[in-house]
Amino acid sequence: APSAPPVTASALARPPAKPAIFIPVNRSPEMQEERLKLPILAEEQVIMEAVAEHPIVIVCGETGSGKTTQVPQFLYEAGYSSDNSIIGVTEPRRVAAVAMSQRVAKEMNLSPRVVSYQIRYEGNVTEETRIKFMTDGVLLKEIQKDFLLLKYKVLIIDEAHERSVYTDILIGLLSRIVCLRAKRHLPLKLLIMSATLRVEDFTQNQRLFAQPPPVIKVESRQFPVTVHFNKRTPLEDYSGECFRKVCKIHRMLPAGGILVFLTGQAEVHALCRRLRRAFPLARHRLPGNPKPKPLAQEAGGGQPGLQSFPQKSRPFTLPQISLDNYSVLPVGEGDEDREAEMDEEEEALGSDLDLDLGDDGADGGEQPDASIPLHVLPLYSLLAPEKQAQVFQPPPEGTRLCVVATNVAETSLTIPGIKYVVDCGKVKKRHYDRVTGVSSFRVTWVSQASADQRAGRAGRTEPGHCYRLYSSAVFEDFEKFPPPEITRRPVEDLILQMKALNIEKVINFPFPTPPSIEALIAAEELLIALGALQAPPKTERMKQLQRSRLSCPITVLGRTMATFPVAPRYAKMLALSRQHGCLPYAITIVAAMTVRELFEELDRPAASDEELAKLKGKRARVAQMKRIWAGQGASLKLGDLMVLLGAVGACEYSGCSLQFCEANGLRYKAMMEIRRLRGQLTTAVNAVCPEAGLFVDPKMQPPSESQVTYLRQIVTAGLGDHLARRVQSEDLLDEKWKNAYKTPLLDEPVFIHPSSVLFKELPDFVVYQEIVETTKMYMKGVSTVEVQWIPVLLPSYCQFDKPLEEPPPTYCPEKGRVQCHQAICVFWAESPLVDRVG
Ligand code: ADP
Ligand code: MG
Repeated sequence: APSAPPVTASALARPPAKPAIFIPVNRSPEMQEERLKLPILAEEQVIMEAVAEHPIVIVCGETGSGKTTQVPQFLYEAGYSSDNSIIGVTEPRRVAAVAMSQRVAKEMNLSPRVVSYQIRYEGNVTEETRIKFMTDGVLLKEIQKDFLLLKYKVLIIDEAHERSVYTDILIGLLSRIVCLRAKRHLPLKLLIMSATLRVEDFTQNQRLFAQPPPVIKVESRQFPVTVHFNKRTPLEDYSGECFRKVCKIHRMLPAGGILVFLTGQAEVHALCRRLRRAFPLARHRLPGNPKPKPLAQEAGGGQPGLQSFPQKSRPFTLPQISLDNYSVLPVGEGDEDREAEMDEEEEALGSDLDLDLGDDGADGGEQPDASIPLHVLPLYSLLAPEKQAQVFQPPPEGTRLCVVATNVAETSLTIPGIKYVVDCGKVKKRHYDRVTGVSSFRVTWVSQASADQRAGRAGRTEPGHCYRLYSSAVFEDFEKFPPPEITRRPVEDLILQMKALNIEKVINFPFPTPPSIEALIAAEELLIALGALQAPPKTERMKQLQRSRLSCPITVLGRTMATFPVAPRYAKMLALSRQHGCLPYAITIVAAMTVRELFEELDRPAASDEELAKLKGKRARVAQMKRIWAGQGASLKLGDLMVLLGAVGACEYSGCSLQFCEANGLRYKAMMEIRRLRGQLTTAVNAVCPEAGLFVDPKMQPPSESQVTYLRQIVTAGLGDHLARRVQSEDLLDEKWKNAYKTPLLDEPVFIHPSSVLFKELPDFVVYQEIVETTKMYMKGVSTVEVQWIPVLLPSYCQFDKPLEEPPPTYCPEKGRVQCHQAICVFWAESPLVDRVG
């Protein structure tokens, strides 16, 4: 394949194509001076000429060279936002979209009404917006509404080296959109920006770009960084090692900021606390541990302090929640901030922020000289924006800056004044099991490319040092580059989005790196089973799959599902729940399942007897609350999903207070996220089905008994591929199958997780939300299934002696008889599966 010629100033030494328009920007002199120091300023003309002459341009340059903040300004000045059009910039991370829009607005002396951002839940875009930073997921959603993206004259795909799934898909889609726009004489310019020089996946991919786009390399003024490896074998306790390193640097080495890389939010906070304790700043005095206030006695709750999903006779009233609080926005759905998710997960898995390391005296000779103050700041993606902004401020006079960060600081954000980098060498990533889809967050070694990026942060303003807490031998074993995200995860959500864009033959899509064929087939099979794609005739199916021509068209149901910003299994549940007033409940359950880990992790090891007693007490209380929320009889059969519904209902009833959450082992942040997602899903449902006239009901009544039964069916239909059958006593050949369940995909026994309210119930058939592997394979998020529903709701997972009647019968639990399908809901009638739910 032809390689992309690097464009240099000489290669473009033609008479400069003067921009037709020049929009003046009124920058402050100080700002202008700061800008002029950035390496990318030297390349302005080269970049702008390349953009003028080519539809697609790639810009590579070290982190901190000024790509994100400056290129949008070049384009603005050259008039690319004239005629009411917008310069769009996508970022894989929410943090970057917000921070960069604020920075650019400040540099240009423009209001946030003009330089704005849009992320999943919020944004400040107005009619006046000319430069719009957004997450990649937001732009993908916009493509669904306007395939040609006519409001943009130029789009910048930033951080392309991160190879996030949405960025990859966007580049594939935009390669086509650029051609379509050219044909219509409404040219769209595309800039792809990358922090590394490795762009072959874009330039050498002829399916993506017939003509390799020019690559402009920004020479950076990087100062040398001395890399120090640990001699010892890598340490398990890398947080502790980070602490000791920072202490040493601070006591022994000359002035200059320190940047520490850790893997997650809890670790970041723990190290910050420890460092602040060691080097106190007056204003950094640790706030006392706020004692949770005793929970107000609940009248009628039966037991003191317990709040249950109220009984029918006493419907609860939730405090008025205005929709404004939900930041419900018409666009920006569907973006998933992976890093945010990881931080969430970290919080769920790790202990909370009050994690006490109990290590104050344990450092012996490492006790630092606390006379020099250290200005310690955390940085991770879920940190409140004002706190994030602190890292860009100069530290207080006479202090040394120390930023403790997650991977965000690797390429997305450049912190000024860093001279020392401490790299633990680890990163937290979501890992998926190919066969089972079982996912877990794992802390793994970074790639060599990432380690080098991290080291590079030390040489921005003067020569620096990078301390790697692992040996050079270990480094040699790192993989060169991290594999693109798309090759590491299930793709059913992407395939559904693509089909909704009428890309039928997904296999022919110009992915920068395609997902594996097995992943594509698995996704297509799942979507067929969910009724989102049309199943090919049985006989042709095998042939079709063998030829790998994955080209099933989307169904009407699939289109509906694609508009909901949740995974296809959950979207199916929403699509089914218009019946019998189930929507508000289904929305709540889906929101709670999407946010994951509503409950605090209480199985963590305790540092002291006192803590152990506290944990035990809390565990008992949470177990008790779960039983109350799950209720009895019909409601208990909905199992853990009833617990979710009850917990959200009771929490909203309590005013969603932090105290309530803490007292009941609920994660406050997850609860807030669920609240926002409920609002967002409600908007999405109303958009498809205005006659539902749904609003987030602050007075959500508990579901009736029959509604609970419908909800169970809805959940069954959505989680059909997660069906498990209890191993019957006559099948018991082996002790290891005692109380076990069998699933279609796994040969090993799986068990109901002890935290489930159905742990002791052992129903014959269940569906589960996910399987986690610890000592055994455990199902979490379990709900009971009636055997007679299976052929009706999940025919594609059944083998029948004789062919099914067409149309299939409908099971209606209320009336206990089979209904004819026409009588069911008109709204979804064109979809093949939906009307099978009674
Ligand atoms: P790149 O995208 O090439 O990595 P950026 O455009 O993000 O580079 O950053 C260019 C410069 O702007 C960096 O030196 C960085 O320190 C500075 N910068 C970015 N954001 C801020 C901010 N909010 N406050 C102060 N300086 C900032
Ligand atoms: Mg950048």
